[in-house]
Amino acid sequence: MAQPVIRLSKSTISKEEIDAVSQTMAQEFLGMGQQVQMFEDDLVSFLGGEPSLCTSNTGTSALQMGIQSLGLKPGDEILIPSLTYVASFQAASAAGVFPVPTDVEINTGLICLESAKKLLTNKTKALMYVHYASEFSNIEEVQQFCQENELYLIADAAHSFGCTYQNKPIAQFADITCFSFDGIKNITSAEGGCLVSYKHTEAIELAKDLRLLGVEKDTEKRYQGTRSWDFDVKHQGWRYHLSEINATIGRVQLKKFQSDFSKIRKNLVTHYNNRIKEVDSIIIPLSAEYKGKAEVTKHIYPVRVLNGKRDQLKEHLEANNIQSGVHYKPNHQLTKYKSQGLPNAERLGSELLTLPLHADLLVSDIDRIISTINDFKD
Ligand SMILES: *Cc1c(COP(=O)(O)O)cnc(C)c1O
Repeated sequence: MAQPVIRLSKSTISKEEIDAVSQTMAQEFLGMGQQVQMFEDDLVSFLGGEPSLCTSNTGTSALQMGIQSLGLKPGDEILIPSLTYVASFQAASAAGVFPVPTDVEINTGLICLESAKKLLTNKTKALMYVHYASEFSNIEEVQQFCQENELYLIADAAHSFGCTYQNKPIAQFADITCFSFDGIKNITSAEGGCLVSYKHTEAIELAKDLRLLGVEKDTEKRYQGTRSWDFDVKHQGWRYHLSEINATIGRVQLKKFQSDFSKIRKNLVTHYNNRIKEVDSIIIPLSAEYKGKAEVTKHIYPVRVLNGKRDQLKEHLEANNIQSGVHYKPNHQLTKYKSQGLPNAERLGSELLTLPLHADLLVSDIDRIISTINDFKD
């Protein structure tokens, strides 16, 4: 008999979200109002240390507004590791800024500073730090590099909601940090995201206007349950605000992250790390090492498959009803963002295989995944 499918990723939803959404629906106010305001307040207190925060309808739009609200302009360049979801690149080009694909460290998949140094020009104004697979082990070196070269540090922390470093929320390490709450991230609001800054309150205030077509102070008015019909607009804005339904889901998920999701994911990753050691030597996990205390709640669990066996192993897992993924095809290999070769990103692009990870995965599922990998004969 065929074994049940083990999904690569999924949303984890219970009656709690469903009941909360029903209550919000019954209010017959779905736009952006009290639920969004309360979700933002909940996120601010979860993140601690008085961040300025603005939610948006996706993580991608958060990144786009983050770049725009720091004042980057057409003609400016932003360094971005090539090994990321195309969202990072699209956010930059949507903001009119030129994304420069940068190589990554082979052991971690994080941006490689040697490569960044070589790609600096007098147009480089920012570096987008992607928390690949929820890791951030070279963030302090990157901070220093950005200071020395007068670059804004914008973090794509779509993978690392809820992570801390040196006992500080990870969002404290960049000028602006963006999280994603899409369906499969550490928490979801169905679709959604946010921008956070502990330094640039004005930029976050601007983003609050930008998400509502640039209408000045529209956020405050909507939270007070009023709308102003006489307003001014000074910037190109977007229709990027969150709905009451999204925020309702997000609020329940944030509570569950604190009570369950984070523990569950950490526990599963510990089990993976222990069991992966027994596996055939063609599999090696990525290895981020920290100088201080890091609390990592992993969103994805990628491993490297050596000897050109990645695609075969992927098929073998699929044949055994185990889904897997590839995070990511390097962006500089896409037509729109084509650039010179980046050896580590290319190598990882052909080696990486992401194994299932989500809050409904069981330790016994991991045991089945490991024994299926052990059965793989090349
Ligand atoms: C999910 C993700 C995003 C975009 O978030 P959305 O909310 O889906 O727009 C950006 N970067 C990375 C690395 C992601 O995984």
